Amino acid sequence: MSETQRMVTVRVPAKINLLLAVGPRRPDGFHELSTVFCAVGLYDTVTASPATDLSVRLTGPESAGLPADARNLAWRAAVLLAEHVGIEPRVRLSIDKAIPVAAGLAGGSADAAATLLACARLWNLTVEPAARDALAAELGSDVSFALHGGCALGTGRGERLRPVPATAASSWVLAAASGGLSTPQVYAELDRQRAAGTGSPAVGGPEPVIAALGSGDPHLLADRLGNDLEPAALALAPYLGATLAAGRRLGALGGLVSGSGPTCAFLAPDGEAAERLAQGLLASGTCRFARAVVGGAARPKLTVRSNQS
Ligand code: ATP
Repeated sequence: MSETQRMVTVRVPAKINLLLAVGPRRPDGFHELSTVFCAVGLYDTVTASPATDLSVRLTGPESAGLPADARNLAWRAAVLLAEHVGIEPRVRLSIDKAIPVAAGLAGGSADAAATLLACARLWNLTVEPAARDALAAELGSDVSFALHGGCALGTGRGERLRPVPATAASSWVLAAASGGLSTPQVYAELDRQRAAGTGSPAVGGPEPVIAALGSGDPHLLADRLGNDLEPAALALAPYLGATLAAGRRLGALGGLVSGSGPTCAFLAPDGEAAERLAQGLLASGTCRFARAVVGGAARPKLTVRSNQS
């Protein structure tokens, strides 16, 4: 006899940080942040299907070497949600990865957020938004933003969010190197530089970037981008200097290291210029991956399919 099976798919975007102001290290080891998140049109897709136990399957161009067990953030998200409501985490998670790993694009956080959304629907749970945000914050600093997308100001560890309106979508190129950077190591390098007095001047508060987003003027936005982690990422991955220089030489309005790197994000005047810039960056040999994406409009998208089995 055939049975109808429901599968829930969530397509979830990567993020870049248009501004990342890093305050002092807190007693809990995290740094106090003020950051302007911007979701970009590069997506992982997580599909949750009914199962008798928990499993993770990884596919896609950026899935190599990722763990498919309790080390995977999606796995942890399913367990945490199930614990929260007192059920067993019975789900098969299929993750199609297009977001480069350990790249400063919060791909793991995106998968965790997608899993929270997908499992809540698959298991027919009603989870209050505040409870869901709390679970997200427990999973990681960037997971809360990944639940929402768009543009937002993040404070605390980045988990306290306020939506930021953007009057126009922006055109970006993401240029990723081979290999990743460890986020804790980049923060440790920043602490070391600050203690040694060799750090760069701090980037300042988020209001100028928020105003530039509201103006819809990419030239204004380009002038106001900033990342306190960039000097630390450059110290650990000096080749990023060549990527940033190539982007500027090829006509980017502005560019910066995204989050803890090593992905560089370049702002272009429009979508066509972004496509040309992506091709130029690939040809420059300073990155292995360069993709034109739209910023500010991307949000998680959930779809439900029924299959006869
Ligand atoms: P962040 O900026 O949020 O620290 P990131 O973009 O630099 O993150 P991720 O791609 O999220 O980096 O990966 C960080 C680490 O998390 C990697 O070492 C990776 O092995 C681990 N990880 C666990 N689950 C996942 C997942 N589903 N996708 C990517 N990485 C994952």
